[in-house]
Amino acid sequence: MAKTPTKTRRKRRSPTLGPEKTAQLYAALAEDRPAPETELNYHNPFTLVVAVALSAQATDVGVNKATKKLFEIADTPEAMLALGEEGVADHIKTIGLWRNKAKNVIALCELLIEEFGGEVPQTRDELTRLPGVGRKTANVVLNEAFGQPTIAVDTHIFRVSNRTGLAPGKTPDEVEDQLERVTPDEFKKGAHHWLILHGRYVCVARKPKCWLCTISDICKFKDKTPDPARKESDLGPKG
Ligand code: SF4
Repeated sequence: MAKTPTKTRRKRRSPTLGPEKTAQLYAALAEDRPAPETELNYHNPFTLVVAVALSAQATDVGVNKATKKLFEIADTPEAMLALGEEGVADHIKTIGLWRNKAKNVIALCELLIEEFGGEVPQTRDELTRLPGVGRKTANVVLNEAFGQPTIAVDTHIFRVSNRTGLAPGKTPDEVEDQLERVTPDEFKKGAHHWLILHGRYVCVARKPKCWLCTISDICKFKDKTPDPARKESDLGPKG
């Protein structure tokens, strides 16, 4: 006979870290990188918007290569517009989706000039009106160019937030909401950079480098990667 499922359910433990460990996690990341910066090269808020928009499905290194010359000759919406779609496309052909991105860059410049006097707006709602600028790009620009405490959730931040238990969520928006809720004010400005760099260089997608991770004693990830330099015999007898 099939067992009747028991009605008493165990109370589920909160998957998040809690305030104390959250503060410890940020403090450890901050100690590692006291002055974190974006790895995208830019000259001013305008070139930052363009660089971040171009970085969708491309690496920062690839974007930097493509924009080096482009930004030297066009670091204002007016100068970019003068280059035209073909001119922009010529510079960015090495990065993914370049055709569409070139079109968006030109449309973005037109809107900036027509509606914002050629200046990059400083609110998320206005920024996301620009072609090729989604919530993530807007958050990066607000944080990096205007010092606002926004956290843009990309693939690295999504992974680190879930693995560690810092801000678990099924979608980037859920993770962003959680991060905004749990991140102490003092760490909000740097959180985006610390988490992204940690995900890019330590908590990498395939085999996180847990053995050298500065927050491994706080992180809730169950399948931590052991130190590859440590031989099985060092781990003691089995059983
Ligand atoms: S311990 Fe491992 S899984 Fe946890 S944050 Fe560090 S690298 Fe990522």
